[in-house]
Amino acid sequence: ALNIRDLTMAYGDLDVLKGVDLDIAAGTVTCIIGPSGSGKSTLLRCMNRLVEPKGGDILLDGESILAMKPERLRRRVGMVFQHFNLFPDHTALENVMLSLTKIKKMPRQEARRIAEVRLADVGLAERRDHRPAGLSGGQQQRVAIARALAMDPEVMLFDEVTSALDPELVKGVLDLMAALGRQGMTMAVVTHEMGFARRVADQVVFMDEGRIVEAGCPQQIFDNPRSERLKRFLAEVL
Ligand code: ATP
Ligand code: MG
Repeated sequence: ALNIRDLTMAYGDLDVLKGVDLDIAAGTVTCIIGPSGSGKSTLLRCMNRLVEPKGGDILLDGESILAMKPERLRRRVGMVFQHFNLFPDHTALENVMLSLTKIKKMPRQEARRIAEVRLADVGLAERRDHRPAGLSGGQQQRVAIARALAMDPEVMLFDEVTSALDPELVKGVLDLMAALGRQGMTMAVVTHEMGFARRVADQVVFMDEGRIVEAGCPQQIFDNPRSERLKRFLAEVL
């Protein structure tokens, strides 16, 4: 489980997270929604310490991640971004292998075996020898997901992973994420895909101006919003 307690974060003078409390139970999917600039990405980035919080704490299975070595933390918490950040000169298979050989110091043969399995998991066994330029955006994003999964993380963080994709490629990536959730992966997903949040999330969190304004099951958030801010947001996006 992930337990976030009174988390604050600032970029210089700009307070971006103003006391966030959030519990993500093991094996559940939490979708984070909210307007641009509300702090969704920053919250996610705090969860694997791409940025350092100012105050508060984040517990991963009871252990503060703020006291953890970043290398160890990044093995336990995988993250996938809007832009896939694949190495353009390496094939899909090599891209997945690289984190295993570099970060986990795994022998190439073993890394290759795991990478092949993970690429097959995301439906890309046949495309494994292609470089990113020879793959569609959706396929590249699935390689990025396979790469994160290859590290065998306990938690997966997704930050608007379908926002840069052509509309016809979005479904394949969302279906893959839904399947991961069904398999029991603990996930925090920042998304504009309200249909996905409604279908897949165990918990939906609405953020505005650095705070969680409302959190609850999808039915409560989408069908019975309480705050005016959430009602306004939903009226704009739905
Ligand atoms: P979006 O939906 O547009 O991705 P978001 O909810 O993910 O928005 P954040 O990226 O977390 O929002 O940004 C929260 C606030 O922090 C914004 O005001 C943003 O301008 C600011 N911010 C984000 N990154 C930085 C940075 N590297 N330096 C300074 N300010 C930043
Ligand atoms: Mg963002």
